[in-house]
Amino acid sequence: MKLFRILLTAALVLAATTEVSAEITFRRAPQYSQDTVTNSKYYLVCITDPGNLAAIGGQQVKVYKTGAFGRQLTLKEGDNRIEITLFKGTQVETREVNIHYRPTLGLVSRPAPEPRLEERLFYVETKENAYLQYGSGGDRLGGSKMGFLDPGIVLKVTGAIDDLYQVQLSGNRFAYIHQEDVEMTPRSYRIVNTGSIGISNSGDTDRIRLSLPLRLPYASRTALDPTTIIVDVFGAMNNSNWITQYHELGMVDYLDVQQVESDVLRLVIKLKDKYCWGYSVHYDDNSLVVEVKHTPKDLSLKGLTIGLDAGHGGELPGAISVTGLKESDVNLSIVREIEKILKKKGAKVVLSRSEDINLTMPQRKKIFLDNRIDLLVSIHNNAGGSPLSAMGASTYFKHITNRDLTATLLRHMLELNVPNYGLTGNFNFSLNAPTEYPNALVECLFMSSLPDEEILADPANHRKIAEKVVAGLEDYLNQVAESKGLVTKKKSKK
Ligand SMILES: [Zn+2]
Repeated sequence: MKLFRILLTAALVLAATTEVSAEITFRRAPQYSQDTVTNSKYYLVCITDPGNLAAIGGQQVKVYKTGAFGRQLTLKEGDNRIEITLFKGTQVETREVNIHYRPTLGLVSRPAPEPRLEERLFYVETKENAYLQYGSGGDRLGGSKMGFLDPGIVLKVTGAIDDLYQVQLSGNRFAYIHQEDVEMTPRSYRIVNTGSIGISNSGDTDRIRLSLPLRLPYASRTALDPTTIIVDVFGAMNNSNWITQYHELGMVDYLDVQQVESDVLRLVIKLKDKYCWGYSVHYDDNSLVVEVKHTPKDLSLKGLTIGLDAGHGGELPGAISVTGLKESDVNLSIVREIEKILKKKGAKVVLSRSEDINLTMPQRKKIFLDNRIDLLVSIHNNAGGSPLSAMGASTYFKHITNRDLTATLLRHMLELNVPNYGLTGNFNFSLNAPTEYPNALVECLFMSSLPDEEILADPANHRKIAEKVVAGLEDYLNQVAESKGLVTKKKSKK
């Protein structure tokens, strides 16, 4: 009887990720396996054929429809021999595993390494897809992004650490940039005078233009109550003595220009509408242009182009579940279901990928920018935590103006009666970074959780998830319409 495929999974109580410590396939010979762990809390996770019954350490455990089963054990120091028993009708098969628990003597927390900055003093120019980081640290999402920069921007390098340059933006402001994203330049400057400033209405955007003698670095952010876009231009001295407005504007209520430090010029752009539909900061020759999108005239799905990103793909499958389900496949299946529903409702849909291929983050972003999408939803599935608990749904945003969209999507996901894994802001995910369109990341469920995996293993549930995402989008559009007095309050529960 080939009932067994056993996977031993140890998850640390405090660690966010599940550590797979060993994978053992029992075919004939081995009756015994060994694993050494350093935490007394241990998740033993195994797989058998669906429909069999299972017991771990003499206690019957639930076998999920996927065939996965598991139990949390508290280990004693030294050897822990654990019996796993499978029942198929009258057939019984038993395997024993030995988990050796060796407590570590006082976990040493490693101090953060001293930043060892080599001193450099020269100038560089940005290449395509360069971005500034606040600091020199990083995690799996990379260093915390301050924002993307257009090519041809001159930066003063004041130091180097690992593969980063430290650059000086102004007297008091430093940032970090990847060395591969810049090249040396003979151009240099200390501080420059700004030229004229004008605002115009180009039809579906309002366009602010600040003329400069060369391309200076900038950073932008958004704020709420009132909804405002703030752009800091570093190395600039205000010599713009009036702001010319040529047309009635569609989205910008007013622009104010402030010299916040002797070498930082701030553009404060107050919006008329509560919801920001995106903006871009870029250079046109040496003029800094801030283009602010108008709220779409038609706020039904019929009038909009929705971007959908299925995370991972190709040689990068993302998280893999206990029974071997690939996150990239689940993400794509859910995206295809969302696409079907959106198209039926008359929306235009732009997918980053429609097959099992891997695209880089800049490639995905370019597809969405080139197709001028109105809104983006990224679909992923999570990993980490206890494999034996239902973990649930969560949604993520970076820019505060995307919070309402992201919270609305989560509220509808929770109608699936799954746990709330939370609403996360300031999220440093690459596809949450663009400012050009509202965007949100949905981590539908957890690949690593056996109860969540059971839901994800059934394609009929991908449709149910997709329906909730679309309901969230419609609810959000309704909130925007309400805020403009276009509809009376009805569907929204806000
Ligand atoms: Zn993912």
